[in-house]
Amino acid sequence: MRITLDECIGCGLCVKACPFAALSMADRDPAEVERAKAEGRKLSRRIVVLEEDKCNLCGACVDVCKSGAMDIDRPAAEAAAPAGLDSYSGVWVFGEQRRGKIQGVALELAGKGRELADSLGAPLTVVVLGHELDSACEGLLKFPIDEILQVESPQLAQYRSEPYSRVFADLIRKRKPEVVLAGATTIGRDFLARVAIQLHTGLTADCTGLGIGSVAGQGERLLLQTRPAFGGNIMATIVTPRHRPQMATVRHKVMKEVAPGAPPSGAPPRVTKVVPEAEHLACRTRILDFVEEIEDTVNIAEADIIVSGGRGLGKAENFYLVEDLARVMGGAVGASRAAVDAGWKPYSHQVGQTGKTVQPKLYVACGISGAVQHLVGMQSSETIVAINKDPGAPIFGVASYGLVGDLFEILPVLTREVEARRGRSGEGRT
Ligand code: FAD
Repeated sequence: MRITLDECIGCGLCVKACPFAALSMADRDPAEVERAKAEGRKLSRRIVVLEEDKCNLCGACVDVCKSGAMDIDRPAAEAAAPAGLDSYSGVWVFGEQRRGKIQGVALELAGKGRELADSLGAPLTVVVLGHELDSACEGLLKFPIDEILQVESPQLAQYRSEPYSRVFADLIRKRKPEVVLAGATTIGRDFLARVAIQLHTGLTADCTGLGIGSVAGQGERLLLQTRPAFGGNIMATIVTPRHRPQMATVRHKVMKEVAPGAPPSGAPPRVTKVVPEAEHLACRTRILDFVEEIEDTVNIAEADIIVSGGRGLGKAENFYLVEDLARVMGGAVGASRAAVDAGWKPYSHQVGQTGKTVQPKLYVACGISGAVQHLVGMQSSETIVAINKDPGAPIFGVASYGLVGDLFEILPVLTREVEARRGRSGEGRT
């Protein structure tokens, strides 16, 4: 990072742009200002100061600096994209299934995949790997998908990284899709990374937004892969200009599920059965037994109503206010990371970048400020109600309804009111 202080005009734009508070303004030495004046040069009285150990070299300051005082070494734009990239075409979604049931995240990606395919003027294909998949694949026929690749073998009956990644990579080599998407699930994260390595292409994990666009000097028809970066302090849009396919994983509940309908081509979706080559099915691991984890906590990722509590609750004992409202509403209890880190709620309740991504019909945020890492986990909720005593809290920026006030006054009233309207007898402490 280089700062040419003679060029600094003291405007402070860089200080505002820095996500890491690495920049501040200070007074320039008055003698220096006077000296410059005597020489006929004009120097500002204020200058920017950099704390190097806080700087992450993100370049946000360089982008806003109007005087050219800030500079950073960026890798020179690479040469033109290698030949042959345009032989790749189409959008693929990994149709993750468990025990023959297509997972919700695959339907969410099919919705986004349809949009991307339409922008590219290309077909959308859902690829399902496993064994005895007839009913799973038939179930996909009602959606606007052009083709369903049903890749079957007894060796694919249970997920194992080696055969899944080899078979999938082999299909990609042969059929050359331009874009490949998978859920950021345990399976998706594990096997798509292996596929990317085998194909020598890039993979952006945990995207929160996907689109098609061009980037100056990098190319057109690029998959714009947006995800939080630098600890969630900025949203970065990543592109894969020189390799194909362009691959990304997306978490469950970040995108809306695909609605039933016909593909824009008008032709009905077709199922193509594929028998994988034996050499790709070899595997060094064997599954001896499969024991499913029994969840005794509410799975907030599936809940229609979530009432979440944050640091504003003050202490663990006050969480009953959130739990009571959740109970009368028939909802689940969520928490911010601050509340989880304080030990007020177990991690399974955490909503956000390092917790769960949720998309309920109703999300009630109580005493949560709305840090970007929390917002990325809940901002796609249908209706958001925020209760916060600070009218400037960022949570109000995404809220459909905001209640500015003390949650200790508001929550008991709300709980009583909901309970009365639902005609339930009071069981809680409210
Ligand atoms: P605070 O930010 O302290 O906000 C408390 C709010 O309560 C304030 O707005 C205050 O006005 C309000 N309040 C106080 N008293 C009352 C009252 N009586 N009535 C009404 N309102 C009141 N955070 C997450 O939530 N999820 C994540 O997954 C996550 N991942 C992260 C990952 C990384 C890499 C990093 C760096 C951070 C992450 N964070 C995450 C932390 C995040 O940056 C915030 O620190 C956190 O979300 C703050 O939690 P909070 O809103 O409960 O607390």
